[in-house]
Amino acid sequence: MNEELKIIHHIPEGFLDIKPREITKLISSPTLLHLKGEKDKPFFISILLHGNEYSGLIILQEILKKYCDKALPRSLIIFVANPKACEKGVRHLKDQPDFNRIWKGGSSYEDTLIKPVLEYAKNQNIQGAIDIHNNTGRNPIYACINEKKEECVKLAQTFSKSIVYFTQPDSVLSIALSRICPATVIECGLPGQTQGIISGINCIESILDKEEKWKKDKIKTFPVYHTFATLYIDPNTVISFHQQPFLKENHLCFISQFDELNFQQLKAGTFLGKINDTTQLKLIDRNGSNIFNQFFSVTENNLTVKNSFIPGMLTKNTQIAKSDCLGYIMEKELINLT
Ligand SMILES: [Zn+2]
Repeated sequence: MNEELKIIHHIPEGFLDIKPREITKLISSPTLLHLKGEKDKPFFISILLHGNEYSGLIILQEILKKYCDKALPRSLIIFVANPKACEKGVRHLKDQPDFNRIWKGGSSYEDTLIKPVLEYAKNQNIQGAIDIHNNTGRNPIYACINEKKEECVKLAQTFSKSIVYFTQPDSVLSIALSRICPATVIECGLPGQTQGIISGINCIESILDKEEKWKKDKIKTFPVYHTFATLYIDPNTVISFHQQPFLKENHLCFISQFDELNFQQLKAGTFLGKINDTTQLKLIDRNGSNIFNQFFSVTENNLTVKNSFIPGMLTKNTQIAKSDCLGYIMEKELINLT
């Protein structure tokens, strides 16, 4: 039986100093903290949709410490999504779905989590939404948007000038929230990474600002990284990331600096690793077609880039590579904003 969403109107005692792995001592199930500020047009901030991505908790602790003896300039609705997975330091528990792949509807969490969260956000007339995540591979910090709208870009820019536009996977929370208000995802690098936390704090400070300076400048066009295909790996593949004897039939051996390729424009001919069987890797576009052969070549087991592209979110975490994806490929695009 899934737990009911809890809604509380105060910061639990000890929340500002609690370590991520101890969070269930204070919050043990999905919870909304609705904190009243001077201006009652709330912003929605979600953390721990992925339990191991704890930078969002640290960012909020730092922000709330600044306001512990004075009112928040603006109300916040903080969604602490999956504290049980956070306690275990995992993306999600074995008996749970991925909490950032359920928002399209149709899961067993529909009535206990999805509808209550989205209805509460809508009823409270949220002005914007920020979903805080970390990456599992090395990436520069970046924000994501799901709609080509000026306010989404402005919101994303409070975190980073590097903005990724994506529409797949379409079951993420930010897409559901984009239907209610401007929304962005902020990707704060690896969990706990300082630069991501500092930029995250600056982002939340910007949206708390009563004068809403972040909204001021007009933007008509903006360059974004557009993800257009997802790299999947066969679950039976044995993956490694360093030079070693290339023996097994189902072995895929990537270069050791694989995740350092993220956000780099890779030229044709770039060597990526050794592969036995090209069916081990699939590159699926938005139409569901496998376009592996358009972007990759395999000659004498050498996997190389065929046509230039920019990879993003490549991970060396083999468990996540197999259960979610190995990463995405992107192109730079100047978008017109509405
Ligand atoms: Zn995440």
